[in-house]
Amino acid sequence: MKPITLLIVLSFLFMPAVHGVDISETCADKKTFKLHLVSVAKGCKKHQLSLGVGAIPPSDFPKYDLDPILKNRFLVARKVAEQEGVYLKITSGFRSIERQTFLFNRALKRYGSYQEATRWVAPPNVSHHPRGIAIDVNYPDQPESARWLENNGWKFGLCRVFKNEWWHFEPITAPGKKCPPMLKDASDLLK
Ligand SMILES: [Zn+2]
Repeated sequence: MKPITLLIVLSFLFMPAVHGVDISETCADKKTFKLHLVSVAKGCKKHQLSLGVGAIPPSDFPKYDLDPILKNRFLVARKVAEQEGVYLKITSGFRSIERQTFLFNRALKRYGSYQEATRWVAPPNVSHHPRGIAIDVNYPDQPESARWLENNGWKFGLCRVFKNEWWHFEPITAPGKKCPPMLKDASDLLK
């Protein structure tokens, strides 16, 4: 058998496996905010916002804003929460490297050691805020409202990440999939 024939035979053999994977994109109606699943190949329609396919991985620097899919996820979650009388707001989203460096240095002073500081503020190269994939919600005085997002965020692909930060959320799951277990604190990101 010629290599090219072998390749064709193999690709046919593996085709069902590839096509068997059901990759679906979550779309939200811009008016009703109802969620719909569509195949990635089809994509969301014009009257819909895309909530994307899966967890949003950290991408390379530089970044200047929040990830657009994360923005959509939060927007839709906020609208649905509002229908239930809960008001969500981003109190800190994208941060420049300079801003995160300032916050980390301040934490170093406040907590006195690198180890203790990293429990509360992730170093700029590690934090997901400068990468545009982390949001602080209703910080510092509305943990009850953020609790709504903790309980319902997975429907939109948003998860609380740290046991010691009720306000910090990231798009680390696919919309409609349960969130992974929480990390102890930000210092777990260094492990
Ligand atoms: Zn945060």
